[in-house]
Amino acid sequence: MEMDSKQFREFGKAAIDILADYYDHIRDRNVLPSVEPGQLIRQMSEDAPEQPCDWQDVLKDFTEMILPGTTHWHHPQFHAYYPTGISYASIVGNLLSDGLGVVGFNWIASPACTELEVVTMNWLGKLLGLPEEFLNCSSGPGGGIIQGSASESTLVGLLAAKDKMIRRLIKENPDLDPDDIRNKLVAYTSDQCNSSVEKAGVLGSMKMRLLKSDAFGKLRGDTLKKAFEDDVADGLIPCYVVANLGTTGTCAFDPLYELGPICKENNVWLHVDAAYAGSAFICPEYRGFMKGVEYADSFDMNAHKWLLVNFDCSAMWVRDGYDLINAFDVQRIYLDDVKTSLKIPDYRHWQMPLGRRFRSLKLWSVMKTYGAEGLRRHIRNHISLAQHFAKLVKSDDRFVVEPEPTMGLVCYRLKDGDNLTKKLLENLTAKKKVFMVAASYRGRYIIRWVICSLFTTKEDVEFSWQNIKKEADIICISNKSVKSKISNIESIESVSIYEEKTK
Ligand code: PLP
Repeated sequence: MEMDSKQFREFGKAAIDILADYYDHIRDRNVLPSVEPGQLIRQMSEDAPEQPCDWQDVLKDFTEMILPGTTHWHHPQFHAYYPTGISYASIVGNLLSDGLGVVGFNWIASPACTELEVVTMNWLGKLLGLPEEFLNCSSGPGGGIIQGSASESTLVGLLAAKDKMIRRLIKENPDLDPDDIRNKLVAYTSDQCNSSVEKAGVLGSMKMRLLKSDAFGKLRGDTLKKAFEDDVADGLIPCYVVANLGTTGTCAFDPLYELGPICKENNVWLHVDAAYAGSAFICPEYRGFMKGVEYADSFDMNAHKWLLVNFDCSAMWVRDGYDLINAFDVQRIYLDDVKTSLKIPDYRHWQMPLGRRFRSLKLWSVMKTYGAEGLRRHIRNHISLAQHFAKLVKSDDRFVVEPEPTMGLVCYRLKDGDNLTKKLLENLTAKKKVFMVAASYRGRYIIRWVICSLFTTKEDVEFSWQNIKKEADIICISNKSVKSKISNIESIESVSIYEEKTK
């Protein structure tokens, strides 16, 4: 039987109760679930239920089968990847969006959907200290849009850059063949870029060169300039650069003030991927990291990473909305709108899909309930917790912290070698109490510890550290005994050498 509004209320309230209890008691769980691959697939029925189930059954399956197979991204000991945002305000904003269930591809499809996005993107752009020309409320053609992910924004930028370059070259020389130009276009980023940047090249059919970063993981101006010169000498056409503000591996910041002028001189589109670290620019003390942003053609940060907004909410601003419209405008009579201008955008021309959710509701709900001050407090608190963790690691002389911690990321390794560090991470993951992932820095294997959860306290950070230290004690003791057991080996770097020898 179809659910009525009375049942909807009960279902919804019970679901919220489950989630509130889940967060109240999240520390009682391990951060990683204890399930085998295929467990849920085996537990679930092979076919969809023929008869309707009670909503109580739905929630029972959720708590008994689905929750136990979940990795708890908001657990205080979740220190992997980068954070994904959450807050009660955002969950409610999302609920309101789902509740309305509108699709806002143009203004008439839901005026508030378009206009709240304009408003919130102006609010957020101002909070970040972006140059005014990126904002919809400026006198120019700039503006912001909420994309689904940083990956999409990078691809949207690439496709718009490609279109813009081809138009410009054809205008300068109408005899040129667009296909010929297309085949010669090249995109550039650093070898530290997120996988999604490289993938944008694959999806957008543009060669993406991953240029060598310097010793600190930054893409330097000289390297970019040389790459442009080499490619031009080979008859290729530099078209698109993705600069990274906060790389995924070690949170390195490319110097926009070096890359920007080179892009400008060469008419190359500069896109800034600040997916994680961009949130920190709401605090004026971190804006130095985006020096040179005025050279960018597009800028993206994930409010769904570090700004307490649930996935998906990737905030992208462009200097000129017409660059997107020129590239993506495909008309149909049924999409004709009464109201189209850059100031009230037809957002379907600014993105890849036609349909779009009312994502700004969750951003708005978060910005309203936290206020700018509350959001800044959140960022500063996370950075100070990361600094506390770094201090704890540095106090133990078996460990090295490198590079110097930035934002909420602390990278570290055991001095005694990569294999021991790897073993440490493997053992910790197997115990499921603390979750981290690896990266590499200057050819060494490092463990990334990122402050992720909204709920993490100083005591939680200390708990994580105690677990890491305890595991290091076990590994280092066994490594010492290995060293004393094996003679005639000058440098024993790892337990795996021991394992190899004792097989
Ligand atoms: N760029 C950087 C620097 C990232 O760290 C990530 C994800 O962690 C991405 C892009 C991809 O983000 P999304 O999942 O929103 O596409």
